[in-house]
Amino acid sequence: MKPPPFDYVAPPSLDEAVAVLADEDQDSKVLAGGQSLIPLLSLRLAYPDVLVDLGRIDGLGSIEHADDTVVIGAMATQHEAETSHLLHELCPLVPEALANVAHPQIRSRGTVGGSVAHGDPAAELPAVVVALDATVRAVGPNGTRTIAARDLYSGMMTTTLREDEVLTSVEIPTVREGSGSACVEVARRAGDYAMAGAVAQVTVEKGTFADTRLVLFSVSDTPARIDAVERALTGAEAKPEVIARATAAAAEDLDLLADPRVSQDYARHLAEVVARRALTTALERSA
Ligand SMILES: Cc1cc2nc3c(=O)[nH]c(=O)nc-3n(C[C@H](O)[C@H](O)[C@H](O)COP(=O)(O)OP(=O)(O)OC[C@H]3O[C@@H](n4cnc5c(N)ncnc54)[C@H](O)[C@@H]3O)c2cc1C
Repeated sequence: MKPPPFDYVAPPSLDEAVAVLADEDQDSKVLAGGQSLIPLLSLRLAYPDVLVDLGRIDGLGSIEHADDTVVIGAMATQHEAETSHLLHELCPLVPEALANVAHPQIRSRGTVGGSVAHGDPAAELPAVVVALDATVRAVGPNGTRTIAARDLYSGMMTTTLREDEVLTSVEIPTVREGSGSACVEVARRAGDYAMAGAVAQVTVEKGTFADTRLVLFSVSDTPARIDAVERALTGAEAKPEVIARATAAAAEDLDLLADPRVSQDYARHLAEVVARRALTTALERSA
């Protein structure tokens, strides 16, 4: 199908982009890599009057180390983040998760900010930013604000970003000593969206879990932080069998999204498997 008619602007500055977005006489939408938005338009699931392309605005594509975070500009492509030495060294969960996103062609156009702002519950990056307690920066007509990733996802593909705001960067805390992380997913074919996925990060001190993060994706309408597992593990002996007990117990209580492709029992089984594997691999890597 063809997209509905729309106007297109590519302003050279953030202020001008925000001014177009804030114009109440037209319904406008930010265009980043276009890898989700253009298919949505072609399927006639969105009807914006204007697309505001961020591609000509300088300074939105950098990846930089700042204090105890790595700051990824919204327009950095997923490929740039996946191959960033800085991220491999300081936030290895980000490139690991990105390697599971779609195919190289899509990652070479799709952006980090686009994936985080789109908020697809089956996507890897939203789960990563929630798991790592990242923050995002957004610029709108009233200036800049910082949003904790845990407050960003409010429902199915819905975020707390306002329609006249541009997400400008994502700040990822750098990994602590004694920490390990992993992203594990099950998909029908390499490059497909996951049927179930998990990202985990653990920090081990003196043989016990000092800090545990577990977020499941593709199982509910937002990235799902699994507090029950995090609570059960934190302070417990850092052993695979302890992980297995905690993930099995938590799987019973998961509130799963109805998916016509899989039975609830199978979805629950997959969620348990990816959670256990992600935490176990994170534990092995923490050594
Ligand atoms: C065949 C296919 C397979 C895919 N598989 C996966 C997958 O397995 N995992 C996965 O995570 N993704 C997958 N994707 C999606 C891909 O990762 C997209 O690149 C990503 O979801 C959106 O990034 P984008 O830069 O292309 O954003 P766009 O498509 O340009 O925008 C997406 C949405 O976010 C908004 N937006 C974008 N940037 C900003 C910003 N800076 N500030 C405010 N709002 C913004 C837009 O207005 C739009 O609503 C797939 C895509 C395709 C086509």
